[in-house]
Amino acid sequence: MQYQLIRSNRKSIAISFERDGNFKKNRVRETGTASETESLTLEDEGLTLEEESLGQPGYEGLHLVVKAPYWMSPGEIASFVASKREWILATAKRLEREQRKAMAGRPRLENGDTLDYLGEKRTLSVIREERSRARVKCVMDRLLLWVPYEADYEYKRAQLEKWYRREALQIFTQKAEEYALILQVGFHEIHIKDQKSRWGSCSGRKNLNFNWRLIMAPEPVCDYVIIHELCHLRFMDHSADFWKLVESICPQHEQYRRWLRDHSGSLYVI
Ligand SMILES: [Zn+2]
Repeated sequence: MQYQLIRSNRKSIAISFERDGNFKKNRVRETGTASETESLTLEDEGLTLEEESLGQPGYEGLHLVVKAPYWMSPGEIASFVASKREWILATAKRLEREQRKAMAGRPRLENGDTLDYLGEKRTLSVIREERSRARVKCVMDRLLLWVPYEADYEYKRAQLEKWYRREALQIFTQKAEEYALILQVGFHEIHIKDQKSRWGSCSGRKNLNFNWRLIMAPEPVCDYVIIHELCHLRFMDHSADFWKLVESICPQHEQYRRWLRDHSGSLYVI
């Protein structure tokens, strides 16, 4: 079985599916919310092992990544991967299925198509005007998109993404500030990114990064990811103390993690 091996000073071995082109040089310094989509802890030969999968269907290829501590021997790593063969195959199949489903339901960005915004449906109205400068406005349950006559799918998609990113920055910043007060933590900056395999991350420099697509998810799910990343400012790991802190602010976090695992495809339709 082919996989990419990433060594770090982590404590346990983890397997995940990641999308191509998603490798960062500084990933060791970062903690991500990638494991929110699927994560289970297994006891195996006295080691605490953790498996994670992203569950996010994308348009790029998925590949298997194995993250292992420096001290683990190649033989131990290989036998761990072999012992998880069934899980790997089942997960790969599920991800492929989700990807196909997401592609089939992909809106063409024409009048009457619906798009999600904080978990609610917005009906798209495309208004074509001569020499129009593109703009997007949300009015009640309608999403109005002004575009020039010649605008194609990609043009419309880019405008909508820009709008989603602006909304995400504004709403996530406001939420992060509120929760940071409750948690008594301080962060530096918030960046909205197109993270291929993460909903959020927190850097060593106390910057919070969020995937712009998250703004399509229901509001409590957004809140959960924001709380999760803020809690990393206190605990840079997924220890019991970390989860206790998450739970103190977000008692239903399990439900939101499940939502992200089961519905990630719906956030990748445009
Ligand atoms: Zn985390």
